[in-house]
Amino acid sequence: MTWSWLALFSIAAISWAQAPQPDGAGLEPGVLPDRWPTASPRCMEMEEYYVHEYNPNFYMLRQSPCTDYEKPFIYVIFGTEKALLWDTGSRNARTREAVDRLIERWLKVNNRTSIPLIVVHSHHHSDHVAGDAQFENRPDTTFVKPDVESIKAFFGFHNWPEEIRTYDLGNRVMDIVPIPGHTDDSFALYDHRTGVLLTGDTVYPGRLYVTDFADFKKSIHRLAAFTDGKLVAHVLGNHIEQTRTPYLEYPIGKLLQPDEHELAMDVGTILELDRALSHMNGPARVALRDLTIYPLDPEVLKQMRATQHKSKEADRKIVYP
Ligand SMILES: [Zn+2]
Ligand SMILES: [Zn+2]
Repeated sequence: MTWSWLALFSIAAISWAQAPQPDGAGLEPGVLPDRWPTASPRCMEMEEYYVHEYNPNFYMLRQSPCTDYEKPFIYVIFGTEKALLWDTGSRNARTREAVDRLIERWLKVNNRTSIPLIVVHSHHHSDHVAGDAQFENRPDTTFVKPDVESIKAFFGFHNWPEEIRTYDLGNRVMDIVPIPGHTDDSFALYDHRTGVLLTGDTVYPGRLYVTDFADFKKSIHRLAAFTDGKLVAHVLGNHIEQTRTPYLEYPIGKLLQPDEHELAMDVGTILELDRALSHMNGPARVALRDLTIYPLDPEVLKQMRATQHKSKEADRKIVYP
């Protein structure tokens, strides 16, 4: 190869590269916990939410398994002008208390007296909106209802779900990417500052319940395309239902999960999911290494109810003796 060819080659390589150096790529770093306290929780000692600081402006809260088997994650992200709450949690939790306490501490640390709160939802399922009533009349709060029309109006979508909108929390730009399929109102949120992509119940280590297969397939393909050329530090969903053993999940309704899969996934998972879906012409259950495509039909719903009841009863003896 001549020198000029070499030069051309390196220019091409640079323009393709997402980050020229392995130096953190200018993303705001953060730390994920090794484990979440879901192995054998001591319910009398545990708060309703386990709060984890990913970094000083990005918080992950996980609902305790002592309150609800769904034990979803919710997120609180701070910009200079606004804070954003992603979901209000599942049943039996005082989400408002946990979020208010966190915001209060953040204000103290940052020498401030107030910050407006924006409440949005990954989607409208009951295990993500159960705390809504606690926030609807919260002072200094914009509450975006979990339905397509409200989301479109708030973010200014004209061409849902093909369009991507941005939203700025103040020195913190986020991309809003519609991904219907799990539900009609599902969307992903990409935080430019940390490179974290929040994917709700659409991509996470567990059962990806699909209600509209055609939409889901298109959404995953669009999400994969969206990540092309982006710096993605972590793909963070809203649940963990997978064990650390490849292709092995916990039964539906399990409260205790002693050896859970880590929450964080990466772009590779989205690409793998996109590839698997590209081979499918219609809904079918397909287990991948870290998650399962899980179409929701009446038979699955029946099974879910039965299994859920059985594993809840088994666990209850351990958690609440
Ligand atoms: Zn859901
Ligand atoms: Zn859920």
